[in-house]
Amino acid sequence: MDFKKLLSNFFSRNSKTNKKGTYVTSDPSDKNLRWGVDNQPTQMNKAYIVLSKEERAKGFVRPVRLSYIHKTCNTSTFMSREIAETYARDPKYYGSTFCSNCQMHRPISEFLWEGSDETVGS
Ligand SMILES: [Zn+2]
Repeated sequence: MDFKKLLSNFFSRNSKTNKKGTYVTSDPSDKNLRWGVDNQPTQMNKAYIVLSKEERAKGFVRPVRLSYIHKTCNTSTFMSREIAETYARDPKYYGSTFCSNCQMHRPISEFLWEGSDETVGS
């Protein structure tokens, strides 16, 4: 399974949900949200938190970047525009993020924005 492609397809869709049910929400009480890091391979969460459209519309303090590299495995992962815009609006919003190769959520300090030497979350 090309998980990277899958992730990209999932998250590049504009609709709120995809065929496997992964979606983004701006409701922190959504029961499908999971928090923290993984120490062994897992699946993507059912739901990912993002800032609301209104909050993201207030302006970005970083460029909107759609992929990052996991330093541990040197593989890039793509994310949805909503998540990319949330990083651009509030770079420290997330404490951990998903690597499509390791299939784990890892601390954002382990990731670089693709094409740069800038650490995610900086
Ligand atoms: Zn990785």
